[in-house]
Amino acid sequence: MRGGKGELQLLPAKNRGRWPLMTQSVRNTTRRRPRSAHAKLFGTGDLNRTMRCSVIVAHPADEVVGAGCLISKLVDVTVLHVTDGAPRNMQDAKAAGFSERSEYARARKEECLAALAIANVPENRVIDLEVTDQCASSCLADLTKTITTFLQNSAADIVVTHPYEGGHPDHDATAFAIHAATRLLKQNGFKPPVLFEMGLHPANDFKAKVPDFLPGAERETTTLLLDERARELKQRMFACFETQRDSLEVSPIGPEKFRQPLAYDFSAPPQDGKLHYEKFEWAPTREQWQSLASQALADLFPTTETESVGNQGS
Ligand SMILES: [Zn+2]
Repeated sequence: MRGGKGELQLLPAKNRGRWPLMTQSVRNTTRRRPRSAHAKLFGTGDLNRTMRCSVIVAHPADEVVGAGCLISKLVDVTVLHVTDGAPRNMQDAKAAGFSERSEYARARKEECLAALAIANVPENRVIDLEVTDQCASSCLADLTKTITTFLQNSAADIVVTHPYEGGHPDHDATAFAIHAATRLLKQNGFKPPVLFEMGLHPANDFKAKVPDFLPGAERETTTLLLDERARELKQRMFACFETQRDSLEVSPIGPEKFRQPLAYDFSAPPQDGKLHYEKFEWAPTREQWQSLASQALADLFPTTETESVGNQGS
């Protein structure tokens, strides 16, 4: 586990069982702070369960790996999947025993619904935009408009989503769409939700899903510890993903990590050097991704396309 600057320290393992709740936010107790957006979600030690929360992720199962226990603790939560989890190249589908992309996508949806039911999220609170997996970057402007409408209709107080960190192009596309959507909402006089990012990125081999942030942008992080009961719940959720068994078997069931986003400039790369996803042949290069993002910004914000579209201070 990385201990980035400002990241809150975990309790020693021997103390974890003493926490009375299934999950517990860990706060820096060395100084007092005014009530922040963090406090709105995480309260002053316990979760604020009554917040209206939308968890918007690129792929079915992302929300379970990155925020499954958080979701299980909230009473008013909607999950939105941007893609259907089925890439066009059929490699994953065939490995899971499917000959049709649509059948693989349907299986992924059904197993995700089963997992979310364990976290008390009913089927009618799960929305699928059904963009083809690995293709979200190619429809950034349309995705932004769809998510803007969703945010207007859902009236969420809090949105939990991916950071812009170069981990997966669909994750970055989802982050783009949400940040641009909040800007559109503000431009049109609507109050946007408070954004949180969850730690989640593919491992170097692209097999495991790692519930952590990539190094490079260390900021204050709120960590939800998982005690035995929480780990058991998450294990049961993982077990629903039959098609993702190979991936989730090697994915750590660790603490869930959240932080508030920066005001990203999506026309610039999120990190210095080679991006995490540029290791994979199917992924776009950083230049290709930035070109798509710049074009979408020009479409969405025709007179100010070079500005940042972050949630904070824009
Ligand atoms: Zn994903």
